[in-house]
Amino acid sequence: MSSLDQYSVFGSPIKHSKSPRIHKLFAEQTGQAMQYSAELVPADQFVQTVKGFFTQGGQGINCTVPLKELAWEYADLRTERAELAKAVNTLALQEDGRVLGDNTDGVGLVTDLQNNHQIALKQKRVLILGAGGASRGIILPILQEAPLTLTIVNRTVAKARTLADEFSHKAKINACGYEDLAGQSFDLILNATSASLSNDLPPLAAGILAAGGSCYDLAYANEATAFVRWAREQQARNSLDGLGMLVEQAADAFYLWRGVRPATDPVIQMLEAERNS
Ligand code: NDP
Repeated sequence: MSSLDQYSVFGSPIKHSKSPRIHKLFAEQTGQAMQYSAELVPADQFVQTVKGFFTQGGQGINCTVPLKELAWEYADLRTERAELAKAVNTLALQEDGRVLGDNTDGVGLVTDLQNNHQIALKQKRVLILGAGGASRGIILPILQEAPLTLTIVNRTVAKARTLADEFSHKAKINACGYEDLAGQSFDLILNATSASLSNDLPPLAAGILAAGGSCYDLAYANEATAFVRWAREQQARNSLDGLGMLVEQAADAFYLWRGVRPATDPVIQMLEAERNS
């Protein structure tokens, strides 16, 4: 390996990852001497590839689909938010040789909502669509902002209930199926399903978004996702996708590794401009 500190994102697929670009911009902006690569790592090669990376002097790894649960298992110690998420997106080599696992997805989302878009969570009725890995990762950081209510809705209701139970020592979370939402309305709807990846939309009832409410799709794409288009039709105050979350979670990983938090605004603006060009 080169003498520069080495970082990488592991996943499968990985070709379209924006992380190398984002971390290169962060490193330039903050004057950090480091390199960041992307590696195609299938699940069955995860453990040996991570070991090899750290043995050869690597300092930190981001993990994406389908490796976040494996990274959770691999970590020698974990932050509370990673522990509860049961998923790790950032591995950081510690001075004593142990590997710390963190999950910066949820804090990245909360930062994007509150700092970049002035969407408050405190005292708001928040609805999360989906009960998979992304949903699990955002629950604790959302609860820490003290929403009035938090509801998880999922096609497979049992998965929503399991998630609500796992976090019940932190706060009461409502769990239900889509048909149970009839007559309810929410100030903020977060789409943590993978429906947008197949241009699909969860079955949302009319009137579910309160007047002046906002919508946020954790997925991101060059074109507006099906959920962002739906949000615009509901005249949501904000109809956003997860590009800002992606940059903010990367900034928190960068901070964990380098001890300096880069300015995210210019990077988000650059990526926004590129996808609109
Ligand atoms: P999972 O596969 O773990 O979970 C998928 C969830 O989506 C399940 O709850 C599933 O329901 C639900 N679902 C899938 N299709 C539909 C549909 N057509 N209608 C209703 N529900 C549906 O995926 P992840 O949680 O890992 O990822 C979810 C999304 O979050 C992805 O789009 C991903 O790109 C995004 N993400 C974005 C990040 C960012 O930085 N911006 C970071 C992390 C994730 P069921 O249980 O019933 O099958």
